[in-house]
Amino acid sequence: MIVELINTGSELMLGRTLNTHQQWLCRRMADLGWPVSRQVAIADTGPEIQQAVRESLGRADLILVTGGLGPTSDDITRELIADLVNKPLRENPAIVAELKRFFAERNRPMPARNLVQAQVPEGAVVLPNPNGTAPGLAIKIEDGSWKMEDGGAGRLQSSTPNPPTAQWIVMLPGPPRELRPMFTDTVVPLLQCELPRQIFVCHTLRTSGIGESALAEIIDGPLQAFIARGLELGYCARPGQVDVRLVARIPQAEALVLDAERIITPLLSRYVYASDDEDLEAVIVRELTARKQTLAIAESCTGGCIAHRITNVPGASAILIAGLVTYANAAKEKFAGVRPETLAAHGAVSEPVAREMAEGARQATGADFALAVTGIAGPSGGTPEKPVGTVFMAVSSAAGTVAVKQLNRFDRETFKDVAAQQVLGMLRRAMV
Ligand code: ATP
Ligand code: MG
Repeated sequence: MIVELINTGSELMLGRTLNTHQQWLCRRMADLGWPVSRQVAIADTGPEIQQAVRESLGRADLILVTGGLGPTSDDITRELIADLVNKPLRENPAIVAELKRFFAERNRPMPARNLVQAQVPEGAVVLPNPNGTAPGLAIKIEDGSWKMEDGGAGRLQSSTPNPPTAQWIVMLPGPPRELRPMFTDTVVPLLQCELPRQIFVCHTLRTSGIGESALAEIIDGPLQAFIARGLELGYCARPGQVDVRLVARIPQAEALVLDAERIITPLLSRYVYASDDEDLEAVIVRELTARKQTLAIAESCTGGCIAHRITNVPGASAILIAGLVTYANAAKEKFAGVRPETLAAHGAVSEPVAREMAEGARQATGADFALAVTGIAGPSGGTPEKPVGTVFMAVSSAAGTVAVKQLNRFDRETFKDVAAQQVLGMLRRAMV
C-alpha cells in the first residue's frame, strides 16, 4: 500500500508557516501501520495542485491532501481535484444547513462565498468539521483512471504486489485545530474500514549521555542477525540525545522487534531512558512521583530552562520543590549556598561552584535530588581555559554529588536546550 501526502499552501513555501501537518500526519499514519512513502509541499495555485495530485495518482493507493478548503479565492483544492478525477461538484444541502447553523450560532451573517464549502464531488464522503466551516472530503476512485494533462485518461501504475482495488484521495482543512480532530475522529475509522491492513512495527529507544557513533559501536554487531531477518535499524541524533529506531514489516514483526530490543536494552542500560516517545522530563517526574521523592534545581546559564521542562509535565508539583535561577554571584551565595571563597578561587563557571549549587539547593529545600548548571553560553565571555560553550553540571543526592564538564559549542538557545538535556540525563542516571 503506497501512501503519499501533499501539503498545499503558499505560506509554507514562503516560510511563513511551519509545515506541522507533515510531521503530525506522517507520525499518525506510521503508528497506524501505513507509513507515508512520499510527501510534497506546494504553493496553492491551480497547476501545482493538479500536477502533484496527478503524479501521486500514478503511484499511490491513498493520497492525503491538506489545505485550501476554505472560502477564499486561494482555496481551490476541492475544485481542482474534482475536475482531475472527473467528479462533478454538487451542492450538499446538509452542509449548507450546517454552515447556516455555524454562522447563526455566532450571530454573524453568512458570507455567500462560504457556500463553496458545501460543494461536494459526486460520490465523495463528507468528513464533518466540528471546529470550523470547511468539511473534509474523501473520494474513492474505483476505475483507477483520471484526467491526464492532455485530457486523456491516466492509470494507476502501482508497484505494490497486491494493490487495493480502489484509490482514495482524502482532503483535509489547513488549520491544525480542524485537521487533527477530523483525522482522528473520522479519517482513521474510514481508513481502517477501507484499506488493507499492513504490517509495520516501529519501536524507538531514546538515549542520552552517549553519542551516535559510540552507540552504533555497541549495538550494530549484536543486531546483525536481526537485520538479516528483516529488522531495519535507524538512528536519529539530536542535540543531547540519540534515538534508536527498530522497524520491521515482515510477519512476526512484533516478535522480531521485541527480541532485538531485549538484546540491546541491557547493553545500553545506563543510557536508555524511554522505550517509546516519552520525554526525559516526563520519565523523571513519573519515576520520582512513584518513589515519592523530590527535586530542586539551581540554574545559572540555562536561565530556568530545566525548571520549564520539568513544569511542562502534568503533576510536576508532586516532585518539584524549587527552581532557582541564580545568575549573579551574590544570588548563588544567598540562595544556593555557594561559598564566596569558592567563587573567588574558581570563578562562577567551575566544577566546585556547580557542586556547591547542587548541594546548597538540596540543603535549602530538603529535596532528595538537586541539580545545578553553570556555564558560558556566549557569544562573548569565553577565556582560553574556559571557552564559550563550557558548562559544569552537578547532581546531588544522599548517595553524594557527581559533577561533569561539557563543551557545548552552539548558539545561545541550543546551548541552553542541550545543557538542560544533559543534566536531566545525569539526574536520570543518578536515579537508576
Ligand atoms: P481556511 O478556511 O482557514 O482558509 P483552508 O483549508 O483553506 O482553511 P489553508 O488556507 O491552506 O486551509 O490554511 C489555513 C491555515 O492553516 C494557515 O494559515 C495555517 O496557519 C494553517 N496551515 C495550513 N497548512 C498548514 C501546514 N501544512 N502546517 C501547519 N499549519 C498549516
Ligand atoms: Mg484557506
